[in-house]
Amino acid sequence: MAVKVGVLALQGAFALHTRALERLGVAVVEVRTREDLLGVDALVLPGGESTAISKLLEANDLFDAIGSRLAGGMPALGTCAGMILLANDVLDGRADQRSFGALDIAVRRNAFGRQVDSFEAEVHVAAIGDQPFHGVFIRAPYVEWSGPGVEVLGVIDGRPVVCRQGPVLATAFHPELSDDLRIHELFLSGSRVVTDTPER
Ligand code: GLN
Repeated sequence: MAVKVGVLALQGAFALHTRALERLGVAVVEVRTREDLLGVDALVLPGGESTAISKLLEANDLFDAIGSRLAGGMPALGTCAGMILLANDVLDGRADQRSFGALDIAVRRNAFGRQVDSFEAEVHVAAIGDQPFHGVFIRAPYVEWSGPGVEVLGVIDGRPVVCRQGPVLATAFHPELSDDLRIHELFLSGSRVVTDTPER
């Protein structure tokens, strides 16, 4: 069965994720409703503004639906705000912002400092090969703490910026902004494991 990947398209930088996945030959569904979610095997949570996305998830009746899919093992890729949404614990968040707790990390919003809103850095990620990934960080979070079940796959200044826990992968940077599909490929290689299982 061909894998169908959803891209959460409520707010933020979702369009280039769709493009990256299509370049990899994957069928993509932009997810804005519960019906959209039903048809997907895996989900990308894009960068943007995690507080706004959290509100829109609730307003569109999607928060609990995505939460239960994640609890059931749906593979997910969260980038920047998406990483925040997947985390167990959000530091410097707004009191009313919610997260899915699908990744056992404490993540700090806007962690790299306000004067450096945006920067680019080479991130060594052994899981995708020797050549570093050019990371575009935009008011990016970093991971302040990660649980024993979390693999730290990439680090900047001693801070984890690429993490994986089972089928859930997250980056603090925006991989869709670099002309490099290796993070999306890594995510898909995790997703295929699930979709190749018969009788889902
Ligand atoms: N600072 C944003 C937030 O807290 C994330 C920024 C991004 O996704 N580029 O949600």
